[in-house]
Amino acid sequence: MERRTFLRSSGALAAGAVAVSGCAQTDCGPGEGASEPTRNWKMVTSWPQNFPGLGSGAADLAAAITEMSGGRLNVKVYGAGDLVPAFEVFDAVSAGTAEMGHSGAYYWKGKSQALQFFSAIPFGLNGQAMNGWLYEGGGLELWTEIYDGFNLVPFPAGNSGVQMGGWFNKPIDTVDDLQGLKMRIPGLGGEVLRRAGGTPVTLPGAEIFTALEAGTIDATEWVGPYNDRAFGLYQAARYYYYPGWHEPGTTLECMVNKQAYNELPADLQAIVRHACRSINDSMAAEFTAQNAYALSEIRKDPSVELRPFPEPVLKYLRQLSLDVVEEIAAADPQFKRVLDSYLAFGEQVRGWSEISEQAYAGAGR
Ligand code: CA
Repeated sequence: MERRTFLRSSGALAAGAVAVSGCAQTDCGPGEGASEPTRNWKMVTSWPQNFPGLGSGAADLAAAITEMSGGRLNVKVYGAGDLVPAFEVFDAVSAGTAEMGHSGAYYWKGKSQALQFFSAIPFGLNGQAMNGWLYEGGGLELWTEIYDGFNLVPFPAGNSGVQMGGWFNKPIDTVDDLQGLKMRIPGLGGEVLRRAGGTPVTLPGAEIFTALEAGTIDATEWVGPYNDRAFGLYQAARYYYYPGWHEPGTTLECMVNKQAYNELPADLQAIVRHACRSINDSMAAEFTAQNAYALSEIRKDPSVELRPFPEPVLKYLRQLSLDVVEEIAAADPQFKRVLDSYLAFGEQVRGWSEISEQAYAGAGR
């Protein structure tokens, strides 16, 4: 797919090529005067500019808002490090340095541990259930309430689906192989690895390949075949493990500075909201299609061994994950409140999932 090419030569989509100056024409809607300003917003992201899926999704979101608003709200995308570093997106949008950001909420666990639920937690909800919880099960209300305290308005804006377990430079045959393992892995998954005797490292995507190839880290997770192939991770480690127990259906986010959002007229607010919802959906479709293709390509490489994590290792990691979540909940009322909502929804959806998606997955085989 040409437009998904990582190093897309044209920045036209991201820059918002439409330059309509407000509403000076006769087709202005009610309440819109000729004096309405053209708004130029900056969107900072945690991804390299136009990185497949994540960065191109952010670019598509910006282009959609610009197009749907007829150029009244122009959004320009900045890759990680262009305006602010990958992990300063939250602070930049909170402070109003940029009006919008595209990232993942688990990167901000230092602000509130509870935010990790709004991206992914180990052995948690898959992408389909995440959307159910966020849109229909009270999740987005909780997220909005917490972000309000940081001067932000959140929107789900992408989902990677189940991720891969990651790339390892040695096999993981038993839980002992996790001892001393230095691995790039974000969020609660990182804390689980620490309890398993490993050392979790946080690195922006763009630094992963070099760290893995140089042996600074022993292993890394990133996303899945589509994104991992784009970074060339198959050239830096031999063992490619599944499934991504730590990220079973990661939601990406669009955050908007609260003042900037509040001062938008209602129709532009609706455009931002619905454009995010549209990207949330289209990114999931893109990951489904592109992961399948990229995996088939990776399978052709004789230097790569695709392996499932042994069941005892997954059982061990699941137990550690439960321990970590309970421990944080005991000390952090906000985390506990979100956990209770998340678990209640998860419990209810499980009953349905078992006789629908799960039953179908093995039906007639
Ligand atoms: Ca990941």
